[in-house]
Amino acid sequence: MKMLKAMSMATLLSALAVSAWADDCSVTIDSSDQMRFDKATITIDSSCEAFTVNVTHSGKLPRNVMGHNWALTKTEDLAAVARDGIQAGLDNNYVLPNDGRVLAYTPIIGGGESTSISFDPSGLLVGGEYSFLCTFPGHSALMKGAVVVK
Ligand code: ZN
Repeated sequence: MKMLKAMSMATLLSALAVSAWADDCSVTIDSSDQMRFDKATITIDSSCEAFTVNVTHSGKLPRNVMGHNWALTKTEDLAAVARDGIQAGLDNNYVLPNDGRVLAYTPIIGGGESTSISFDPSGLLVGGEYSFLCTFPGHSALMKGAVVVK
């Protein structure tokens, strides 16, 4: 009886550990037909083996009209990445191929769709200046935010 109790406690603890890991190493951010993200700041734990950003689009407009993605850059690169993404076009998700300034990004999605990106956050500098944006032309004026790396 005592043994059984010990085992169920261990099972409970490992279940808790799994849920804590999932909470700290992923985030979900929603985008809309109003050209907005629902978060202004995202915190990334650089000790995660992989960090996952889930992106949803709760609007109705198609991706070629009101498409959104989520891209991670150094804050100092954000404006240039947004500008250069325009010429990359929708076929490239408005990100120049092999653009080293874009540290992670998702495809462009339209209303009702969702996507995600998982990446190794260990190369990010704790306390560094990072931002996220939507690279769809013109959107980063409103669709951007701060990324805090801890
Ligand atoms: Zn957008």
